[in-house]
Amino acid sequence: MRFDTRLVHVGQEADAGTGDVVPAVHVATTFERRVQDPPRYFYARGENPTAEGLEQCLASLEDARFSTVFASGQAAGAAVLALLRPGQRLVACDDVYGGTHALFQTAARYGIGVEHVDLTDRSAVAAALGDDVGLMWIETPTNPLLKVVDLEEVCGLARERGVRVVVDNTFAGPALQQPLRFGADVSLYSTTKSIAGHYDVLGGALVHDDAELDRAFRSHRATIGGVPGALDCFLVHRGLKTLSLRTARQVQNARALVAALRDCEHVGALHYPGLREHPRYETATRQMSAPGSVFSFRYLGDTDRALGRLRLFSVAVSLGGVRSLVERPATMTHAAVPRDVRLRLGVTDDLIRVSAGIEDPADLLDDLLTALRHGGMP
Ligand SMILES: *Cc1c(COP(=O)(O)O)cnc(C)c1O
Repeated sequence: MRFDTRLVHVGQEADAGTGDVVPAVHVATTFERRVQDPPRYFYARGENPTAEGLEQCLASLEDARFSTVFASGQAAGAAVLALLRPGQRLVACDDVYGGTHALFQTAARYGIGVEHVDLTDRSAVAAALGDDVGLMWIETPTNPLLKVVDLEEVCGLARERGVRVVVDNTFAGPALQQPLRFGADVSLYSTTKSIAGHYDVLGGALVHDDAELDRAFRSHRATIGGVPGALDCFLVHRGLKTLSLRTARQVQNARALVAALRDCEHVGALHYPGLREHPRYETATRQMSAPGSVFSFRYLGDTDRALGRLRLFSVAVSLGGVRSLVERPATMTHAAVPRDVRLRLGVTDDLIRVSAGIEDPADLLDDLLTALRHGGMP
């Protein structure tokens, strides 16, 4: 079975008893215990059949053996950090997702040091990988500047030193990039984004090949309680079935918007891995099947005026779903990052991030260009 067929079929086998082509949603929180045959299911903070269907599908998409789903991307991230012991260090890319930064600060309170490194600098990565490093945390493309990390190179360096690598693959999603193929140990997802795809449910997932990690993640989930409800798993799995179709249309729309913005007099630097002038265009092309639905740019007009003029794009955080969104990192996703750190990373006040949805590209172009012209008028 190929990728697009797995999206629709794996973990969604028709029910042998009733013939339902969509498996029933198992909402029970407790399961009867029969003396003669002890049940697979016991209590829903542990395992749940609806979650398991989603897990089978997510694992199969990356040809992986295991997947564990969580109540959110944050809960999935917390399960990964729980692998570390006090005194160990974590090496991470220098611009991580804001929520991940908050998780790292929590880990620091438990004696886990965090070192941010520019993962596009090979010698800096090699220098950072000391004996006390227990984990490397990568995002690629990064948020909101769409920097691209060479997964094969960085995972190779980590492997030589016996350091586990987790890749937060939320931005690209499994349809465009599969980190395990390039040597990562764990793919992490906020399924809230492109996997569920409709901005109506939160979820997270870890995908990997290691039986020991599977036990650790399941035990962490059952203990801390970051387990997704059956109805949430149902919604995530329903959204997942159209991932390839949605992603293809979103990439097409992102490309059309980027092409138009290149010629717009009010647009400065444009960040998108699909542009030939992107510093890591070759790397992106090698490890991603398409450059994704998210891009960002520096706007030379009045940002508030421009964003206020949008009619179709919602000014909102999040990304990867059917509806087109725009956000201003400096005052929204990255508002909690101290200004000097933010500016050092290149997240300037005039930066605008766009997540292309599946609407008609002509409507999106009209809406965005009208707004940018409006904000650019004297
Ligand atoms: C949204 C997001 C998360 C966190 O996921 P939640 O589902 O919101 O908890 C983590 N990483 C990235 C890159 C994200 O975009």
